[in-house]
Amino acid sequence: MIRGWPLELLALAALLILALIVGWITDQVGLALFVAVACNLGWHLVNLYRLERWLSHGRRFDAPRSWGIWHSIFEHYYRQRRRERERKREFVQLLREIRESTTAMPDGVVLMNQVGEIRWLNQTAGRLLHLRVPQDIGQRLPNLVRHPDFIRYLNNRDYAEPVELSAPSGRGTHLSLRIVPYGENQQLLLVRDSTRLHRLEQMRREFVANASHELRSPLTVMSGYLESMGEDDKLRVAWGKPLDAMRQQTARMTAIVSDLLELSRLETESREAPYAPVDVGALTKRIREAALSLGEGPPGIKLELDGSLQLLGAERELYSAFSNLVFNAMKYTPADGHVTVSWVGDAGGAAFAVTDTGIGIPAAHIPRLTERFYRVDKSRHRDSGGTGLGLAIVKHVLQHHGARLEIESEPGRGSRFTCRFGPERVSRSGERAGTG
Ligand code: ADP
Repeated sequence: MIRGWPLELLALAALLILALIVGWITDQVGLALFVAVACNLGWHLVNLYRLERWLSHGRRFDAPRSWGIWHSIFEHYYRQRRRERERKREFVQLLREIRESTTAMPDGVVLMNQVGEIRWLNQTAGRLLHLRVPQDIGQRLPNLVRHPDFIRYLNNRDYAEPVELSAPSGRGTHLSLRIVPYGENQQLLLVRDSTRLHRLEQMRREFVANASHELRSPLTVMSGYLESMGEDDKLRVAWGKPLDAMRQQTARMTAIVSDLLELSRLETESREAPYAPVDVGALTKRIREAALSLGEGPPGIKLELDGSLQLLGAERELYSAFSNLVFNAMKYTPADGHVTVSWVGDAGGAAFAVTDTGIGIPAAHIPRLTERFYRVDKSRHRDSGGTGLGLAIVKHVLQHHGARLEIESEPGRGSRFTCRFGPERVSRSGERAGTG
């Protein structure tokens, strides 16, 4: 069957031929052709009018019926619109399913726009964060969840790790909140009830703290007896070596217990360190004396200190962190190497760095060094008499101060451990201490 353009052209040709015949019979060829063309034009105008009406009110009408090229045009449009409608229906269905599944999710989900206004949330998020629908839709989330840790998390814009907070409803509920950026500056907030994990973590901490505490007394008694036995000349003749080994091991156990207690204390103290001024110069000099008295590593430690820079923090914790770094540098650097400690300001605040020319650390181990009991090399570790907890303590102390630890190292060439403090933790006074 002929359709579309061929039919249209055929019809036009037939009309023109008919007009010519009529014109020839009536001797009015021009008039007959004019009437034929006008009829054809009228036909197209009528169809254009019907097309325009259908496009503007098309939802309510089926495609207009027509003939020739207009039949094809109406057919194409009709099919295209039907396909679009089907796609839209599928999309709406998919959206509904996604919403239903996120509503049923045990975790909370909040969708926010560029400026942090809530666009949508599921039931769990509403329950955990005490948000109401529809009243809170369009409100800025930081105005509704005003926990200081959450506000800090939002402002820092570092969403790699979730933030833990106690739920607005209280009742001992703990929440883990995480922002996931998507699209163009859109944000998704995931909320999880972490009460069980939090309790387990608390139990673990309490267990470690209690066990360490209980071990302290028997260890003190054992060390005391071993000390006295070591001083007895008669016993030393027969038991000299085992006594030394036992004393060494009890000293190591005592160090582990004391580091574990220090770690538990740091972990339970989750709030920020105070902003008390600390004289880093004097602190470093005390650490240098203690490190040199260990009798390990190079005979001296070079200091490069900017005495006008004060650190605002908790002195006892900072002593513990900085001394761990300096003692490590001495432990892992041969006597003919160098250890340098520096405390200087930089664009982002200030940095305390310990640099050594010691044995260094292979790159693969660096990301895991701050884990508890992580050892680069078991035999090396035992020789050094370390507890494997020093850098874990450093990490916790720095976390309390909003600071971060950077580790650069090359096997055989040495290492640099840098503690970077933000500008809020640094204050400048007039005087300068210089180097030592
Ligand atoms: P340890 O008490 O064993 O020194 P740490 O937590 O302080 O435990 O350090 C973890 C591991 O990191 C150490 O066992 C050691 O292998 C490595 N390490 C730390 N500091 C240095 C350093 N300055 N040079 C070489 N290796 C180091």
